[in-house]
Amino acid sequence: MEKIKMTTPLVEMDGDEMTRILWQWIKDILICPFVDLKSEYYDLGLVERDKTDDKVTMDSALATLKYGVAVKCATITPNNQRVEEYNLKKMYKSPNGTIRAVLDGTVFRAPILVDGISPYIPTWKKPIVIARHAYGDIYKAVDGKAGKGQAKLVYTDKDGNEVSELIHDFNGDGIVCAMHNTDKSIESFARSCFNYALDVKLPLWFSTKDTISKIYDGNFKRIFAKVYEEEYKQKFEQAGIEYMYTLIDDVVARIVRSEGGILWACKNYDGDVMSDMVATAYGSLAMMTSVLVSPQGIYEYEAAHGTVTRHYYKYIKGEQTSTNPVATIFAWSGAMKKRGELDGLSDLTEFGENLEKATIETIESGEMTGDLVGLFKKQGVTPKKLNSKEFLQAIASRLEKIYA
Ligand code: NAP
Ligand code: MG
Repeated sequence: MEKIKMTTPLVEMDGDEMTRILWQWIKDILICPFVDLKSEYYDLGLVERDKTDDKVTMDSALATLKYGVAVKCATITPNNQRVEEYNLKKMYKSPNGTIRAVLDGTVFRAPILVDGISPYIPTWKKPIVIARHAYGDIYKAVDGKAGKGQAKLVYTDKDGNEVSELIHDFNGDGIVCAMHNTDKSIESFARSCFNYALDVKLPLWFSTKDTISKIYDGNFKRIFAKVYEEEYKQKFEQAGIEYMYTLIDDVVARIVRSEGGILWACKNYDGDVMSDMVATAYGSLAMMTSVLVSPQGIYEYEAAHGTVTRHYYKYIKGEQTSTNPVATIFAWSGAMKKRGELDGLSDLTEFGENLEKATIETIESGEMTGDLVGLFKKQGVTPKKLNSKEFLQAIASRLEKIYA
């Protein structure tokens, strides 16, 4: 066959450990035989980050701003042990944090559903996508211990005027915490959520606890309502999807009873907690995709899981591993579908769809990696454990039939 053409390059961000190995195999086995891949390559592996004093991460983020679509492999966020292991010049910040700061984006996590792996919540038939606001609140809070005495919240405006409010008059030991957020960050979060809901045609639910936190959470509610009314209401009506605001406890109850097919926008802490709950309930972290969307509609696709270190150590000892490449494959397919859509290349978009279809059908027919075998229950199909490469080859042979 003639290979599928691309016009604009994808920003390709390579990564670390087992996912770096899978990255190359996915390209060799599933993409390059079918697509004349155009990518601008950035090596975000820890060795190269160290060599460039992390400049490569910033460059890849800037390239994403330029081209609009990126695909990223999982990367190591260094800790003390990694600094030693890789003999690093310093403890670099998380690449995802750097990229997110440049794109001012929101992360959306969506599960990949296959027939045979049932969510722990039997009513869930469609994906529940979680959007987490990734700025402020308790993640940037100032907290401390208090003893007998008064804790106050003091705000000084630019002219030096002070407003002071008593937090608590302590009789004995206790604790205090002050947190913040900015209207600008909340507005960006709102726009990313509304844009993404329109993109994937899912209703958007947003939840806070504004009945208790009238000013703080009330501000989130008000900003979302304003952005919706002024910029998105008509588009939502045209797309036939709804925006609903409700309390966090109400939305938790509704989510559990729902059949899925919802985009749930969460404040920072709620998103941290709920995304792990939802990911676990759908079965496996290895089947969870993640996309960073900027308020201007720039997309960076990746898997939600990490570099799968334990498998990598087995791999370098020469052992076969059965690491699940599905979320990384879907990062590639998501990026190619988006690139195809933006550049008007229907063949490329269709290839992304076919790659996803071939991957899902491979699992549904009983061929899968080890992590899924214990979860898979389908009448008449006995799950068979393949190693990573065999699994990728099984997907490729389905793709070959489609493109024969
Ligand atoms: P992890 O790489 O997600 O792996 C945790 C465990 O989950 C694995 O040991 C494995 O369990 C299972 N698992 C995860 N993905 C799998 C897959 N694709 N196939 C099969 N099993 C899978 O998390 P971690 O061990 O906490 O972190 C490792 C490194 O990844 C760290 O250096 C961290 O900084 C980095 N990280 C990067 C990102 C990112 O780039 N977005 C996100 C998270 C973590 P078994 O060992 O039981 O098989
Ligand atoms: Mg968490």
